[in-house]
Amino acid sequence: MEIKVIRMSSSFSRYNRQELIRGWDQRRIEKSSVALIGSDLLAGCTSLLLTSLGVGTLEIYDNDLVNIYGKNLFFEADENEPKVEAMERTLKKINPYADISGVNCLPDRHFLAGIIGHPDVIMELTNNTESKKVCLSYGKKLGIPVITGSADDVSGRFYFTRGYDDRSLLLEDYAGKKQGVMPSEILSGVVVENFRKHMAPLSKDEQTIKSMSYNLNSRARFTEAKAGNRANDSDPNVFSKKHATMIGAGALGNFIGIGLALMGVGRLDIIDGDHIEETNLNRQPLFYNSVGQMKAAVLAKRLNKINTDMDARSMARFLDENFEPYFKANKPDIIIDSVDNLSARAIINHYAVEHKIPLVSGGTGPSSGQVMSYIPGKSACLDCRMNVDKEMVEERTVHSCIRDPMPSVVMSNEIVGGIILGEMATTLSPEIYGENVSGIIKYDSSRSNWAGVIGSVEKCDCKRGDVKDWMKEVMEKYKT
Ligand SMILES: [Zn+2]
Repeated sequence: MEIKVIRMSSSFSRYNRQELIRGWDQRRIEKSSVALIGSDLLAGCTSLLLTSLGVGTLEIYDNDLVNIYGKNLFFEADENEPKVEAMERTLKKINPYADISGVNCLPDRHFLAGIIGHPDVIMELTNNTESKKVCLSYGKKLGIPVITGSADDVSGRFYFTRGYDDRSLLLEDYAGKKQGVMPSEILSGVVVENFRKHMAPLSKDEQTIKSMSYNLNSRARFTEAKAGNRANDSDPNVFSKKHATMIGAGALGNFIGIGLALMGVGRLDIIDGDHIEETNLNRQPLFYNSVGQMKAAVLAKRLNKINTDMDARSMARFLDENFEPYFKANKPDIIIDSVDNLSARAIINHYAVEHKIPLVSGGTGPSSGQVMSYIPGKSACLDCRMNVDKEMVEERTVHSCIRDPMPSVVMSNEIVGGIILGEMATTLSPEIYGENVSGIIKYDSSRSNWAGVIGSVEKCDCKRGDVKDWMKEVMEKYKT
């Protein structure tokens, strides 16, 4: 009896931030069951989300073996071990309250009928047409909804279907291709958001979407598109000489970090002065077993394990006006802003403008988010677009330093993290990935046209000098 009480209070604080969302039904999610087919990145990212969210039963089916040399893994694994078994081991650490099992077997007709049984939803997320055929016909026969999705290096697509017969559901243009982390993060986020809407809608009006596409090769990013035309032939070492500095090691930082490690970024500096709390665990999957430790340090340590060629370093303090020597000495190729407050964002923007460093910035809410890029000489800085300087002064003077806990859930963080990775790729390597989008990429799961690029932004000519002079100047300018 006593054990049960402890368990309940612990899982309560784990899900506390998502239970702050109006209409959230954690019990319903904890009772739900998913059969997930696949062990490449799209299924991998999806398993990470379902586990963090607290889905009751997750069974993962695939027959791939680990090849640590061509690895693409975010979990620890041994050479030649079944991938699903390594996934199961890591996912159980990420959420010990979820019932997770990896079954080493590719579904064929007989297998499905015998083993999968009757989950609430089947997710077929391989690039294998035969497996999709089997799952779609099984789902149709038993009346189980099937989410079918595929991805390549730069694009992906999924369908949410119930007994619908159409050749397009097989996603044949993706057959046999390797899945990349950018589309996998974005797609898996939308897949799981729609699963959540299906299982535990926030209101009776909430509706799932039938289909979604992402394509980094298209300037509209979220148009219905065939498989990306740069898939599989991009240089695997394209980012190995690049140095990124990421400010913010929270939920966005987790997913961006995983992406940077899998994309092979050479060096990553992580700046964050926060420590890990139990209430972070529903959306910051790499922080298992680390409550109380510094986020930046734990994230760097886990990313160095995911990619042993990567040099991830941490600075466990909050970014402020004392980082001038760091930016002067290091001059990273790109700054990634994954913070959750405008004060830090204004300071990040200052350093980017002052040192002419490209900046990709993202923010999230429980069901929405946005991403924008500042490329010196090509687009406008964050102050010209969002008045971050003024907001910083208000945040510093008007609001008290005690902030109420904000509702937060894992899906929007992985989606925005994936979009940031895409814009980072276009910023660092436009010759391979195409041009950066100068507009704002918006995502809102409560709308039917759930994502798109808005506004074309002209460049600005802002110049900045010493950070402390600037800080003094704006504090005086905006003080009320
Ligand atoms: Zn500007």
